[in-house]
Amino acid sequence: MRVLVAGAGICGLATTLGLLRAGHEVRVLEEAEAPRLGGGAINLWPHGTYALRALGVETAKLGQRFSRLALRTATGHRVLELDLDTMTTPMGSETRATPRGTLITALASLLPAEAVGYGDGVVDAGTDRDGAWARTASGRAHRADLLVGADGVRSRVRQAVLGGPPAVATGVATWQGLTPAPFDTGATTTLTLGRQGDCGYMGAGDGLTQWFFDLPSTIDVPPSARLDVLRRRYGGWASPIPELLDALSPADIEIFPHTRHRVPVRWGAGRCVLLGDAAHAMPPVMAHGANQGLEDVSVLLECLESVALDEVVDVYSARRRRAAKVASAIASRSLAISGPRTLAQSGPLLRPLALAPRRVVTAGFAGMLKAVSARR
Ligand SMILES: Cc1cc2nc3c(=O)[nH]c(=O)nc-3n(C[C@H](O)[C@H](O)[C@H](O)COP(=O)(O)OP(=O)(O)OC[C@H]3O[C@@H](n4cnc5c(N)ncnc54)[C@H](O)[C@@H]3O)c2cc1C
Repeated sequence: MRVLVAGAGICGLATTLGLLRAGHEVRVLEEAEAPRLGGGAINLWPHGTYALRALGVETAKLGQRFSRLALRTATGHRVLELDLDTMTTPMGSETRATPRGTLITALASLLPAEAVGYGDGVVDAGTDRDGAWARTASGRAHRADLLVGADGVRSRVRQAVLGGPPAVATGVATWQGLTPAPFDTGATTTLTLGRQGDCGYMGAGDGLTQWFFDLPSTIDVPPSARLDVLRRRYGGWASPIPELLDALSPADIEIFPHTRHRVPVRWGAGRCVLLGDAAHAMPPVMAHGANQGLEDVSVLLECLESVALDEVVDVYSARRRRAAKVASAIASRSLAISGPRTLAQSGPLLRPLALAPRRVVTAGFAGMLKAVSARR
């Protein structure tokens, strides 16, 4: 079968790898002139690393494995510490933080160089009786038996095939960076919650730490003033957050406004199918986006093996919809940066959680991960 893939991000490359391994002919159409390697590090839950392993990616070479997830209050009280390793065995894989660039490079290294055409993005696409088509910015027309829209949050393929509104801004933005570790984070990823928002940090391999803060997306200051904004909002939080801020320079801070798509009922039409952010952009809260995209890839590849091509969109959408909706709801509701919902992030309401047995909390978290995965 001939397949066109729009987008050479994490999900487009992972799909291409799986399709080539299954013996299909694949052409990737990527808008950027070269692989996009920036954007800090991402957290891969066991279902994400499992999907990558199934494609032959050596996950041990991606960033850093972590074993514990700690939750703290802004005043420095440790509320929870989850043992992630006990989830690893039943879910069949590990939890890691990896720089995006490392993951993209690892995926691309398993593909023939000519598989991806850079610098010629899709401007229009569609499906007809004979298959699917895409037209690129250079004016070239491409045809295939199947078109996979993996072209991210502003997906042209989604727009052409499903129409409807684009992903909407949620009013929150992540201010983040990947910088030399200011202190040893060990194998623990830490999330601190307070009424102003949150701060997270984790090792991402090679002596680097991924850190982030969430703020209102309406804050519009020149890059040189970003660190002052962070200090005013988060500088009063307990150690080590002031030390983290002291180790940063304004140029380290990148800003990513959050957006969210309504998860559609059908993830495509005819011979065009959507996956990753093109199907279900969601805020990065709780780190579900790429993990969901990798689940999409696994399920789509399974459907292509077992279902008639004209039925793939329906069967694949039905198998993925519920988990993506749950992940999107968790990502959209787990954090507040203003208003009465921030009360739930205050010390007096968080601290009683410390009384819960670690085993129970870990089991609850594993249940949440299972609810957002097609693998159980
Ligand atoms: C701050 C932040 C932190 C995050 N942290 C995590 C995390 O810890 N864990 C997690 O699982 N997820 C995380 N996410 C979400 C994750 O980054 C996305 O879900 C994931 O990158 C989606 O992958 P994708 O391949 O679908 O899309 P993208 O990564 O957006 O890739 C799309 C590709 O398509 C290309 N493209 C765009 N338009 C066109 C076109 N018209 N034609 C051809 N090509 C095109 C782009 O250049 C790009 O290469 C985070 C997101 C943000 C913003």
